[in-house]
Amino acid sequence: MFEYQLKLSKRRRTVALKVTDNGVQVYAPYGVCESDIDRWLRSKKLWVTQQQEILAQGVQQQVPWVSGKVLIFGHEYDFVCNSQVTSRVDHQQKRVTVRKVAHSTIKSIRTALIKLLNVELEQYVDSRLHSLSVQMDSPIRSVRFREYKSRWGSCSSQYALTFNVLLAGAPKRMIDYVLIHELAHCHVLAHNRAFWSIVARYDKDYKIATNWFKNEGKQLFISKT
Ligand SMILES: [Zn+2]
Repeated sequence: MFEYQLKLSKRRRTVALKVTDNGVQVYAPYGVCESDIDRWLRSKKLWVTQQQEILAQGVQQQVPWVSGKVLIFGHEYDFVCNSQVTSRVDHQQKRVTVRKVAHSTIKSIRTALIKLLNVELEQYVDSRLHSLSVQMDSPIRSVRFREYKSRWGSCSSQYALTFNVLLAGAPKRMIDYVLIHELAHCHVLAHNRAFWSIVARYDKDYKIATNWFKNEGKQLFISKT
């Protein structure tokens, strides 16, 4: 078995498990039987090992001003930041440029990069979402983009879709899966059997994508330092 920290809470009703850089945390309600937790954790051992391996690989993208590379639609682009260039993505040259000014900081350069990713993703989503939503008969009220730390998209009960800007680094086939996933939520909010059967109708190999995000997804994140 693995080591873990047990965190008890009065409000909690269920047991949950989290694997982070700081170790394994188990969240449980007060009064829970410790041997029940032990038994439950034993059944999660493989999953925990996998999560620890993913964390250990540290596949998160380096900040491009260190590594000089950034992912766009699954391809490695050169990253250039200096005062001579304008901020843009050049698909022919496979190059992303961010203009550096006197008061540029890592944070502001990162923000400029995220903005460029946003434009790329928005263009792609625009070109796909309408026809997909018609095919899937999914009503959409609004579409927004923002940077999330732990999700690729969301769909509210009011049909407001939000996509993670960092998806711009993923191959288009994987982005399409996320679009289909969120559009399927317009019909079923839960991740139940009915939900996955809708997803499978429009992306029959969707498991390739769910596995891809599980194993490769972390490389889409861009560190902040
Ligand atoms: Zn979902």
